[in-house]
Amino acid sequence: MRLTFWGVRGSVATPEADNRVYGGNTPCVELRLGEGRSLVFDAGLGLRWQANRMLDERPADNYVEILLSHCHWDHIQGIPFAPVMYVPRNHVTIYGAGYPHRPLLANLMEQLRPEFCPVPNFFHAEVGANVNVSPLTSDPWFEALGARVRWGFLPRGNTSSIVVGYRVDFQGKKVAYLTDVEYVGRPEDCNEAMELADGVDVLIHDAQFLPDEREATRDRGHSTYEDAIALARAAGAKRLICTHHDPSRSDRELDEVSAWLRQIGDFKVEVAREGMEFEL
Ligand SMILES: [Zn+2]
Repeated sequence: MRLTFWGVRGSVATPEADNRVYGGNTPCVELRLGEGRSLVFDAGLGLRWQANRMLDERPADNYVEILLSHCHWDHIQGIPFAPVMYVPRNHVTIYGAGYPHRPLLANLMEQLRPEFCPVPNFFHAEVGANVNVSPLTSDPWFEALGARVRWGFLPRGNTSSIVVGYRVDFQGKKVAYLTDVEYVGRPEDCNEAMELADGVDVLIHDAQFLPDEREATRDRGHSTYEDAIALARAAGAKRLICTHHDPSRSDRELDEVSAWLRQIGDFKVEVAREGMEFEL
């Protein structure tokens, strides 16, 4: 299984000179399970680059299964611009949670309305790939491309949006993805987050804010680095990768955070960087 970070920036893309090292594309992390078979956490603008490489390697018969944390713009804006959507004989499935008053497909269709977006509607028309939307069910486990996937609702402070986290088990390795999460109490007291992160090889976790930004950023729906570290430590994660960087966080600041995280001795903690890639 190969893990690739295609987008690590939270909230809004930041194609700026002082973001070149860590990257400015919005969230997208790929788990390549085999040739032409990838699970993808979130579909921010990084999805465009994931799709480009996949099509370069193999123009057809690819299977991409996207696990959406939620439908805020930074997590879905890559969908209309991912080239795989327009190439026949490719297969895309999008998993995620809807709202009681508005199902997942309706939310995804909203961004494709011609008032907002110029691309053809690949959900309804025979435009290119075979694209399906698969709302999460009450069963917390499901199978995707031969991997076992668990999902669970995550807390978002006092915001009203629904967010889910995931854990993928594949060939004895476990990866969890928890983003846009704001714990109400201590992270280690959140049962759902603890179950998703329990003993994983890699925990990818929201860390939009620095510890001293906590009070000023309550109810924005995000974690601090300390939240991510507390959950990883309590859940026994072997490696923590902090992501969803604040749009204002420069390369220099992330270098400083990175140096601080390297001092944590009991497990490996690092800052996500666009293009970061390794085998599990
Ligand atoms: Zn976000």
